[in-house]
Amino acid sequence: MTELQDLSQATADPADLGCDVCIIGSGCGGATAARVLAEAGKDVILLEEGGDFTGSQLTQRDAAMYDQLYAERGGRTTEDGTISVLSGRVLGGGGVINASDVVPIHPETWAFWRQKHGLTQWTDTVIAPAQARALADLSAHPIAPQQVNRNNQILQQGAQALGFHGEVMQHNRGEACQGLGTCLIGCPLGAKHNPRKIAIPKAMAAGARVLLRGRAVRIDGLSEVRKTVTVRTMDSKGYREQFTFRIRARVVIVAANPMGTVHLLRKSGVDNAHLGQHLSLQPQIPILAEFAEPVNSFDGIPQSYAVTEFERYDAAHGFGGFRIEGIFGTPGILGSLVPVAGGPGKEMMARIRFAAAALLLLPDESVGEIALKHGRPLARYTLTDEYRQRGRKAIEIAAKIYFAAGAKSVSVPNAPPMVLRNPSELRRIDGLSLAPATLPLISAHQQGGTRMAANPSQGVVDATAQVFGTRDVYVFDSSWYPSTSSSHTMTPILTTSHALSARLLAEWPKANGT
Ligand SMILES: Cc1cc2nc3c(=O)[nH]c(=O)nc-3n(C[C@H](O)[C@H](O)[C@H](O)COP(=O)(O)OP(=O)(O)OC[C@H]3O[C@@H](n4cnc5c(N)ncnc54)[C@H](O)[C@@H]3O)c2cc1C
Ligand code: SF4
Repeated sequence: MTELQDLSQATADPADLGCDVCIIGSGCGGATAARVLAEAGKDVILLEEGGDFTGSQLTQRDAAMYDQLYAERGGRTTEDGTISVLSGRVLGGGGVINASDVVPIHPETWAFWRQKHGLTQWTDTVIAPAQARALADLSAHPIAPQQVNRNNQILQQGAQALGFHGEVMQHNRGEACQGLGTCLIGCPLGAKHNPRKIAIPKAMAAGARVLLRGRAVRIDGLSEVRKTVTVRTMDSKGYREQFTFRIRARVVIVAANPMGTVHLLRKSGVDNAHLGQHLSLQPQIPILAEFAEPVNSFDGIPQSYAVTEFERYDAAHGFGGFRIEGIFGTPGILGSLVPVAGGPGKEMMARIRFAAAALLLLPDESVGEIALKHGRPLARYTLTDEYRQRGRKAIEIAAKIYFAAGAKSVSVPNAPPMVLRNPSELRRIDGLSLAPATLPLISAHQQGGTRMAANPSQGVVDATAQVFGTRDVYVFDSSWYPSTSSSHTMTPILTTSHALSARLLAEWPKANGT
């Protein structure tokens, strides 16, 4: 097996490198492609801006882990500060810090993409084997009933009392999971069957070179046989760029998450009116409930039960409605969600073991954009009126569920704070404006920015995910999705990366003559 090479150790400009395929970003999209292409005998370099964190390096401490595992240290927001835009920045990407729920792309979404967005080449024959491989990589299986923690049981009991349909979710945690509850800042037990555990070791065993702490800053020669990726090495904490070298490759695959992918393509001179457009953030609304008895929601698997009764598909918009998932975070996350500051906020944190929490997942229209500000990518996103209306409905249903489960109060972390003491107060939810910066929203599932389409007047990449106007420069992450794919994105990205990698291999001799 080749070694991981940590570029932060460089003391001068490293020597330039050459390969068949240079993959930028080591998350679900990039790591999967690295493994498939390396196992097929291609000479692969997998480049990652973040560091490598496993075992006891995942210290379960909020501040240090956000600093090292999250893009922009977990502080990235939309321009108006309303939505936290969260993604991974570490070897293995978001799979290292995600909640491990496995939800594939729904067949209705594929049908919608074929009908509305012309993705006719994505037939069941293409999708089924790729999805099977993705689910095998994840060792996907249902969360066992005894692993559903009290926080999620409360949601389940409340939903069942009201007759709402729901399900215990599938996940990618293996037997090593001890329910420590810190999935969102990494699993020190290595229980997640994520790209860091599965695809990356397999890619390395097949000869792929994996470079850490290297930021791709530009791709040149986009339409030539050999492309040049300019890389800046980072220091050991990933704070500053240091030295420069180049990677020459026949094929370049960008899988740097929509924010990173759009930014890199823009800096590389890709000229397409759709670049950065059609961004979906799937903003999630947090809600808290307080109970008379301790809930200890931080104990056990954080996210295991989903109320699915209100998910909807329609021919005009695709995947919509809303879904309610029980979840709890570490103190750092929760502290940012208590609806009151100062003394009352401190008091509420002191009572946090009595709290249950959920996220309301609302698939959205692709109404955002990734812009460029002060040399960095910036998400611009305004909630639509339709989203706000659906959001208020979702809050009302979640509050009803918590009251049905015996909650003393339900809190919406709004400004000003909204604390509902009994079901007769539910009508106050109609007064929530969801105006910018009144309610902290969370985006964990960014999609769009390099939309897939039949021609460059409609999108940025073609049906093989090749960027229009380039020769063998591809996008293998969720930025090519024409609309929101599912309620979660890990399994969709693994699936589509498998399918695109298989296609690239099938067409390799024709395209590359090797
Ligand atoms: C907190 C959280 C919880 C989530 N929970 C779930 C869940 O339970 N289930 C689910 O299905 N999904 C979940 N997701 C979403 C899912 O984890 C992500 O959609 C998925 O991991 C994204 O994979 P990716 O390969 O597209 O990109 P990423 O995983 O974001 O990887 C991109 C990588 O590219 C690197 N990079 C960026 N720019 C450059 C550059 N210029 N040069 C070099 N490297 C670069 C980044 O450092 C990063 O590591 C969650 C996400 C978050 C943030
Ligand atoms: S709940 Fe399981 S997977 Fe999550 S951090 Fe704890 S041991 Fe790891």
